[in-house]
Amino acid sequence: MRLFRRAFFPEASDREWNDWRWQVRHRIQDLETFERILHLSHDERLALERGGSMLPVGVTPYYMSLLSYDDPGQALRRTVIPSTAEFVCGPGESADPLAEEEMSPVPGLVHRYPDRVLFLVSDFCSTYCRYCTRSRVVGHGTLHPTVSRLERALSYIRSNPEIRDVLISGGEPLMLGDDRLDWILTELRRIPSVEVVRIGTKAPVVLPQRITPQLVRMLRRHHPLWMSIHFTHPDECTPETSRACAMLADAGIPLGSQTVLLRDINDDVETMKRLVRRLMAMRVRPYYLYQCDQICGSAHFRTPVETGVEIIRGLRGFTSGYAVPTFIVDAPGGGGKTPVMPEYVVGREGDDLVLRNYQGDLYRYRDPRPAGERAAVKGRR
Ligand code: SF4
Repeated sequence: MRLFRRAFFPEASDREWNDWRWQVRHRIQDLETFERILHLSHDERLALERGGSMLPVGVTPYYMSLLSYDDPGQALRRTVIPSTAEFVCGPGESADPLAEEEMSPVPGLVHRYPDRVLFLVSDFCSTYCRYCTRSRVVGHGTLHPTVSRLERALSYIRSNPEIRDVLISGGEPLMLGDDRLDWILTELRRIPSVEVVRIGTKAPVVLPQRITPQLVRMLRRHHPLWMSIHFTHPDECTPETSRACAMLADAGIPLGSQTVLLRDINDDVETMKRLVRRLMAMRVRPYYLYQCDQICGSAHFRTPVETGVEIIRGLRGFTSGYAVPTFIVDAPGGGGKTPVMPEYVVGREGDDLVLRNYQGDLYRYRDPRPAGERAAVKGRR
């Protein structure tokens, strides 16, 4: 990182480099600067010339320092540098595969599940992930964190007392200043039905400088507050990110990770095992592993669903249970998060349940059916 800074941002003082606002102001967005820092492939250059697809391009200097200079296939580089494949909308893909717009009673609020809502407070991110599920809105400048828009969402939550859990997301919610975030959290806390607030963020990964003592002091006033952090690859678990997670964990914020399964980036057991172990060491509980949503231009990132199942099979039993995330396919059309798991129950033989353990060995567990059910089964024969 020091070499990178010296080469490309020699004028930046330590204070500036560690200031999240400086990082955001100096994010890399144009072909000329990318070309100066990276040895671009022909395909990357073409994609950058076209200016990204639905989603803008932007990478913080910090995250840029983690990218390979000359390997367009490097995992982290593929997640943030566009390729021409993202201009192709393949079969089954759409701009809004989860039908969030249909389930949005007011702009920036998605009410899909009975007791919780997704509150999109901003559409801005410091670094744009090329597979973003919300690329139809993210970076388009339509979801401003204005008081009037946020008030409409808050008033919907106030008038629907079945809502007990609010997930604040975006875009990147931590791109809001501390005062605006504090105001949102205070207003949510004033709603008697809201028991839990969660923040979905990638800031500790792409902009760990955002996790300041002031931010953490403000957040801890709003417990119970949970945080889901978007991690993709073990190479993101740097000392800076680790420090940011430690500050949040020390403030009593339970941390979980959300990871999108991406072809040739994290779609093998060894990479995922390294990631979940490093997350556990950083006090981040691996929570969800997502099948890549069918967003336009994401086919080159998508793996078969079976790959996710095999990864879970390769983790369960081979590392701590706490480190095994739930593999999720978000059902297209708004069906919701659907867990997909390896099958460990082989079947039933008489009073025995036949189980397959993590090593593939078969075991019998005596599990007689309740008497009433036994009679019903007999009657059916
Ligand atoms: S940080 Fe989240 S919202 Fe922003 S581009 Fe990445 S996936 Fe999309």
